Formats: sequence, C-alpha cells, structure tokens
Amino acid sequence: MALSPMMRQYLEVKEKYKNAILMFRLGDFYEMFFEDAKVASKELELTLTGRDCGESDRAPMCGVPYHAVDSYIGKLVSRGYKVVICEQMEDPATAKGIVRRDVTRIVTKGTVTDITQLDETKNNYICSLYILSDVTALCFADISTGEVSATTVINDYEMNRVINELSVYSPIEIISNLDIERYSKLNDYVKDRLRASYSLQDDNSFDGELAKARLRHIDLSSLFYVDEYSPVYPAMGALISYIDRNLITVNFEIKRFDVYGDSQYLKLDANTRRNLELCETMRDKTNKKGTLLGVLDKTCTSPGARLLRRSIEMPLINQRAIIYRQDAVEELYNNFILRDELAECLKEVFDLERLMPKITYGSAGGRDLRAIHDTLTIIPKVKDLLFDTKSTALCDIRDKTDSLEDVVALISASISDKPPFSVREGGFIADGYSEELDKLRAIKKNAKAFLDKMEADEREKTGIKTLKIGFNRVFGYYIEVSKSYKDDVPEYYIRKQTLTNGERYITAELKELEDTVLSADDKINTLEYNLFREICDSVSREAERISASVSALAYLDMYLSLATVASENGYVRPEVTLDDIIEIKEGRHPVVERFVKDGFFVPNDTYLDTGKSRLVIITGPNMAGKSTFMRQTALITLMAQIGSFVPAYEARIGIVDKIFTRVGASDDLASGQSTFMLEMTEVAYILKNATRRSLIIYDEIGRGTSTYDGMSIARAVAEYTAGKKIGAKTLFATHYHEITSMENEIDGVVNFHIVAKKKGEDITFLRKIVKGAADDSFGIEVAKLAGVPTEIIKRAKEVLRSIEEKAPEKVGEKKTAEEIQDINLNFDDYFGMEVTNKLKETDVDTLTPIEALNLVYQLKQMLK
Ligand code: ADP
Repeated sequence: MALSPMMRQYLEVKEKYKNAILMFRLGDFYEMFFEDAKVASKELELTLTGRDCGESDRAPMCGVPYHAVDSYIGKLVSRGYKVVICEQMEDPATAKGIVRRDVTRIVTKGTVTDITQLDETKNNYICSLYILSDVTALCFADISTGEVSATTVINDYEMNRVINELSVYSPIEIISNLDIERYSKLNDYVKDRLRASYSLQDDNSFDGELAKARLRHIDLSSLFYVDEYSPVYPAMGALISYIDRNLITVNFEIKRFDVYGDSQYLKLDANTRRNLELCETMRDKTNKKGTLLGVLDKTCTSPGARLLRRSIEMPLINQRAIIYRQDAVEELYNNFILRDELAECLKEVFDLERLMPKITYGSAGGRDLRAIHDTLTIIPKVKDLLFDTKSTALCDIRDKTDSLEDVVALISASISDKPPFSVREGGFIADGYSEELDKLRAIKKNAKAFLDKMEADEREKTGIKTLKIGFNRVFGYYIEVSKSYKDDVPEYYIRKQTLTNGERYITAELKELEDTVLSADDKINTLEYNLFREICDSVSREAERISASVSALAYLDMYLSLATVASENGYVRPEVTLDDIIEIKEGRHPVVERFVKDGFFVPNDTYLDTGKSRLVIITGPNMAGKSTFMRQTALITLMAQIGSFVPAYEARIGIVDKIFTRVGASDDLASGQSTFMLEMTEVAYILKNATRRSLIIYDEIGRGTSTYDGMSIARAVAEYTAGKKIGAKTLFATHYHEITSMENEIDGVVNFHIVAKKKGEDITFLRKIVKGAADDSFGIEVAKLAGVPTEIIKRAKEVLRSIEEKAPEKVGEKKTAEEIQDINLNFDDYFGMEVTNKLKETDVDTLTPIEALNLVYQLKQMLK
C-alpha cells in the first residue's frame, strides 16, 4: 500500500532532522509519530495512539494542543531533546491539495527564546569551543539577553583551563569542533558534570568573517584582549550560525560583546568553586540555599540577580575596580533610608534584558512594551534619589544613565494603558496615536450606534416588541424574532435560520452595515498590527541605549543587595591592598554562621603573609571547625574581591590572583576515579598553577592512602608549597600531628590548633583557633559524641592504651594528666581573658546606648 500524502510529507521533513523530535502541525494539534511519539508519550505522559498512514501497520502517534505547545517543548528541551517545529504555511480551509508545511523553529537547551521557560536568576549560556592545537577559544552567548563574551586559553594536557572556564559559566549547551573528541577529561566534564547538550560542528562553520560582520554595530576598539586574527571570531561565527539555524525566521542579535583576558578576574578552578559552594552546594545544583550566593542575594530584579551571580563567579583582581564597587556599597550601607527607597523603585523593574530580544525577534506583545515603558520611567526616579551621592559608582549611575525619555514618550503615546495579551486582537494601540486608526474606530463605533437605531426602527415598523439584532460568527448580524411573531415579519426579511423558539433573518440594509463594521474591524486589526511592528522597530533601534541603562540598574541592584546584606549581617568593609597580607580579625563563615544551631558562631582570626606566616598548619579533632575556618578565610578573601563587605570585626585583604582548595573526600565516585587518585590529581594541579600571590587551602591531604604514605605526601606537599617555587599563602589542616614539627624546621610555617576541651570522658568544642599544635586528636571522644555504642568506645580505648604502651613514639608525644588538667583550666580562663580584653579595648565614652547593649550581648555570648 502507498503512503498517504500527509505521511509522505512528514517523512520528508523527518529525514532532515533524525536526531530531533519533530512536532508536526495538523490542525489544532502538533503531532508526533513513530519513535518520536514513543519517546514523547513517555516524557510528557501523553496517550500513545495510532494513525493510518497508508501502510498496513498504524503509525504510533501522540499529540499536544497547539495553544499549550510551549510548555511541552520546554519539558522536552529541559530533558536534553532537540525539538523541531513544523508549521502549516497556509490555511487548511483554503489550501488546494495537501497543506504546505515548513520547519519554522528548532529549539535546543541553549536556544530557547520563550522566556517563561528560563530560570530568571541565571543566564542561559550556550557555548562554542574552538579547539586548536595550542589554544582554545571559548565563546558564550545568552540569546535571551543578547550578551556574548569570549576568551582564549592556552591548552594544557588535560584541558583543565578550558574546564575551569566552562565552570564559570556552566553553559547548558555546547557546540565544538571535532577536536574535542581527543580530550577525554573535557568530554567527561561536559557530559557528566555539566550535563550540557552537546553537538559537533564541521570546520567550515567556524567562520570568523561572519562573526565580524555581525559585530559591525559594536565598538570593538575598546576590547583589549583581542586582535583581528583571534580564534574567538571563528568560535563566535560557529555559534552565530548554529543559533541562526535554530531560530530560522530571525537572526541572532548581539547586544553586548566582551572579550576578557586571563588577568582580569580572580581565577577559581572548577573544584574550588564546588568546594567553596559559591552558587551551588555540593549536593544540590539547583538550590542556592546554603551557598554564598544564597546569603548575598537580596537583589530586587532579575538582571541584578544574574549580575550578582556572575560577580561571585568572577571576582576582581584590580584594586581600583574593587574599591569603585566598595565605595558604592559603603555609601548605601550608611544610608538606610536611601536603601529602602531605591529597593522600592527597583521592585517595579521588569527583566528588560530578556524582554528586549522578544521585541527584536518579533514575539513581543503590547504588554511587553508597557513593561519596558514602566521600567524606563523608574530611571529618573532612581536618579533623583541618587542626587546627593558621592561615590563614583553611584554618581556614574546618576549622571551617565540614559533616561530614554524619547522611548518612554513613544510607548506612552502609542500603546494603551492596559493592552490585551495578544497582538492579533486589536485594542492595544492608544487612541490619538494614529489618525487613520481613530477614523476607523469611529466608523465602527458609529456603525454600532446605527445598529441600535436600526433595532429600534425595525421594532417600530413591525410592531414586534421582542425583535432584536444579534451577531454570530457563522451568519454575522441577524434579526431575531420569536415564534409567536413569525407572521408579522415583513417581506423584505430573508430567513436564515430556524430555532426552537424563533427565527433569524437578515435584510439588505443590515448586511450593508455589517460590511462596514467587519471591514473596519479587519482594517483596524491590520493597521494596529503594522503600527505595532513599527513601534517595536523604533524601540529595537534604541536597544543599545536601553541595554546600557538596564545594566546600570542591575549594578545598582547588586550594590544595594551587598549593602543590605552587610548591614543585616554585621559585615565590615575590608581594606583591599596590594601587599601580600591577609589579616582578618574575628572572621566568620558567611554561610555557616547563618545556620549554626544554638545561634552562636565563634569568630576567629586569620593572619597569613608570604613571609614568616605563609603556611599555617591547623590541627584539632574532627568536627572542631578546621574546614569551616579555612573556608571562611577563602570566602572572606573572595567576598572582598567582589567588592562586598565581609563577616569580620576588621579585615585587610592583600589581593590574591587565584584561590585553590583541596577539600575533603570528593564525592566523585561516579566519574570512576579512585578518591586518592582524584585527590592527587587535584594536588598536582594546584602545585603546577599556584603562584606567590595565590591562596591555597589543603584539607587533610593524604587521607586516601596508608598512614605513612599519606603523612609523607602531606609533608612533601606542605614543604613544596611553602618553599621558594610557590611560597603562596596556605592553610593546611591535617590529622598527622607529626607534621607540626615543620614549624621549627621550615621557614614560614606556623602551627595553630582549634581548641577542644575534655572534661572527664566528654569533649566540648570551643571552636577557637589558637597558636600551637593540638596535643590530641580526640578521635574516640568524637566517636562517642556521634553515638557509637559504649561497648565499642570502651574497646577502642583499650586498644589505644595497648598501642601507646607498645610504641609511645608512634602516636605523638603524650602529655601527662597534670599537663592536660592545666590546659583545660587555661581554656576555662581563655574566654574570660577574651572578655577582659574586649572590655579594655572599648572606649565607653563614645558608645551609643544601642552599641552598649550590643556589646553586653556579645560579651555574654563569649562567656557561653
Ligand atoms: P572539621 O573540619 O574540624 O572536622 P568542620 O569545620 O567541618 O570541622 O566543623 C564541624 C561543624 O562545627 C560545622 O558543621 C559547624 O556546624 C560547626 N562549626 C564549625 N566552626 C564553627 C564556629 N566557628 N562556630 C560555631 N560552630 C562552628
């Protein structure tokens, strides 16, 4: 049997898109067939049916109604499928033969334009990788906002630098040239860690000229890190042509373009980002709760939220740039009322970064233009509020932000206050904007009045009191007369329809009037639509100005968020310097302090330099707070370099170029590498890449192997890090007490430990870091605390005693019972001393009553 014509048409299209799910428009539905139908019915929970296709077997089929298609596309795409939309290109009612159909859109994760499908707090990046023999160009685009940024990195053996760059942006879709297949670690990273959709492009697609042509409207002269031969252009060319191919009916419009170099941002490798839980926790990729972002984000707008996230991912290393931000944050920090008023304004701001592309791509409605209008009218209010500000950043926002009065005036004159949802319905162009439109509207209105008059006249003429004029889509206007008056109907009435209770008629005069009304309606709709397109084009031409203003508001929102958080959480402005010292007084972990039970986080001091105190060895029992302390030092440094205030009493941060962490046992079992292998790979990476200006955190190096192996490796790594080749500022937590002897042997190494107090058989964590090495690992006490059965605890103690008797030198020098008693007493005194010192430091004469109350509260907490 031959295939039906429709099926033949379907298969012709499908042949071209074998790797995608084809949604084929049939009347009011988008249908899927064969394998596509099976997949979609499962993913979308649709009933799988069948359709005669001309052959003996029915084709498996399922479909979704056209008006709900977006959410179904969204679901499929978010699960990594590529969806192809095939539309009817003519009206089936009037088409001769089979309806013409064409593909109008290909949707993939990175080319979604329906903004309702996107997470508004995150950029939706698609990335192009152009891998050459020595360098790789990376180009990232967010097509919902029109931003593009690019960079190049030198290839290293395992492509770690490329991986790190990808980890900054977390793209959800990646295209690449075939060379990516050569690098298995990169390949695994893309597929397993990022879980990005991924496709290979042939070399012809990497066309630099296409990129340059599409950047013509952007001033490239200010781009420092690129020349015309840079491989970022071919990388970008491939990305543009890929996106264009998916959008089909429109071209990708680039609104902002930036090429960034190696030395502008603080470098954080992929592991460090994960370990420090900057924007995602180790366990949960989607929730910002428990992350630094979760604490710092009090933004009021989506562009502000995205900017803050980017800033956390890319802290600065330029002192001036950091201070520029700090000044703004400080000014807002000091002005509670201004903060409140600005926040009220910003709450009204819509996500123009994502609305503007809708205007350009022609999918906007009247409400979108109104949203742009409403947002832009906020700019003068914001500028007014900033009239008195002093910091350069806020002055720049006040003085350099374009209020776009022309765009506001255009939209307010042309679009009605409450436009309907669809642009096909009419009624969204304001009265008074177009003379022609006003005329047509008057005709329509008059005709309506005429109809009312005609109804009255006909009642009069015929004497039928219940006669009325009505309208339906099938007959247009009609005169309805109830059954009992049927005989009174004049001759010139033409019967059209019989109902149970009455009859419907038309007259020549009524039809004439109908023509006027309907043709006015048609004309109005067409005219409104055309006017709307013109208005969109005018607004679109100002896209660059609008985007600059939107970006200014996003920065303001970010400063505001940082200031609000600083004020609510008791942060201080750190001094950011160019020397090599990190000095933090009473620092706190910004995230842990928000979650500690019993409500009190014990602050601790950090001092690191590149001289006498460059490698700090930290010992102390498990659970004492070593990791927390080390991470807080890294996070405070990072926050300082974002321009944020920091959780401390006082802080001086010498800008660092890179932060590295090697923390805890990784949960990377899924990737198939042994934990120890992974640990050593990470350590090797740090040793190769760290510089004197870096900050390194090593947490329990050498844990994954036997004691002597582990201890030897830990010691060697510590020595190398503290040595001439690196000499970076380093925090080194270890449970190998033997390593603490390095203090006396190697220059720049100092011991600290976190105090835990033993009372009889129990242990209390004081969470306080003090100078000197810990004398005991308290392992058994911690086990007891964790609820290990008493029997086992008892037995462990016996075993320990017998080992100690046999080989006391192997388990470190033990202190006598009296010495331990002594230390415990000193710990009791320790906090008393702290309180005394704090009181001595306080200048009572200058305290306000509130500060005094706070101080008393703080002192009480210290004694607890
Ligand atoms: P370690 O690395 O020494 O095993 P952690 O840093 O993981 O210990 O800390 C264990 C727990 O102790 C943390 O989850 C946190 O709840 C608590 N903690 C750590 N430091 C502090 C502190 N300074 N103040 C209060 N609680 C803390």
